[in-house]
Amino acid sequence: MTPARVLAVDVGGTKLAAAVVSADGTIPARAEVGTPTSADPSVVAGAVRQLLDDVLATATSRGLAECLVGLGIGSAGPLDPVAGTVSPVNIPAWRGFPLVDVLRPVLPGRPAVLAGDGNCMALGEYWRGKAGPGTLLGMVVSTGVGGGLVLDGRVYLGGTGNAGHVGHVVVDLDGDKCACGSRGCVETMASGPSMVRWAAAHGWSTMDGVPADARTLALDARRGHPAAREAFQRAGKALAAGIVSAAALVDLDEVVIGGGVAGAGEVLFEPLRMALAEFAGFDFVRRVRVSRSVLGGDAGLLGAAALALDSAGITAYRSAAPR
Ligand SMILES: [Zn+2]
Repeated sequence: MTPARVLAVDVGGTKLAAAVVSADGTIPARAEVGTPTSADPSVVAGAVRQLLDDVLATATSRGLAECLVGLGIGSAGPLDPVAGTVSPVNIPAWRGFPLVDVLRPVLPGRPAVLAGDGNCMALGEYWRGKAGPGTLLGMVVSTGVGGGLVLDGRVYLGGTGNAGHVGHVVVDLDGDKCACGSRGCVETMASGPSMVRWAAAHGWSTMDGVPADARTLALDARRGHPAAREAFQRAGKALAAGIVSAAALVDLDEVVIGGGVAGAGEVLFEPLRMALAEFAGFDFVRRVRVSRSVLGGDAGLLGAAALALDSAGITAYRSAAPR
């Protein structure tokens, strides 16, 4: 019997990715393209549709298109999974955009499910990453700080489908204003752009022609530039405060951190671990395991695929062990 497969798409502000994903979590076909910056909603939608059509054509030519049982859509948020609409902060052309209705014709008659990209990342890590069964927080530390929760083996979407926004946990009562409208959120200290802004205001700069971004900031932090190092220390502390808050609230087993800024490695994770040791008081908070994503950009696609398999009645990932 041909194993079940799904189509999955991950819609981000800078990149669109799509893939055929098998029920065993392998990815036999995939494609990726930059997100158009057009203000015309149909241009961005056309790029997503084209990408899915391309993956479908590749799958068909390789005999993989049989048994495609559903479409999983992960998108930057906020979004409304019931209405099937998205309003990604970094895709201004889409406000209340009916993404599910636009993509449903790609696989007529089969379920199409939508969830936030942070939720998909968390579920992808839970399914195919190194985390054990139980309760997991996935974090994506990049242009923003996103996240998602898997509680007792099920992705937790919350009242409106937007649960898991760990980047908007407030960790500094007197902190900077955040794009969300709040103040002192994790994201105001730990997103790539916020770290670069802080370092630049404290004496860090790059040579002419060298971009001032999170990657060059990480290089200079490793070389010992004081402001660059301090920017990573603040980010590590902010992430640790967010993790400790989330762990106190839902008794986490695991935290998996992905995204471009997490790629900086020890320059971020060393201060993060030190701050965790300082902030975590209760034994149940101290026991949380924190690790780097082993799946990278695939986690979001895999999570979207797992949701599509779920909606087709195929539970690909293990549920929680009985307690
Ligand atoms: Zn915020």
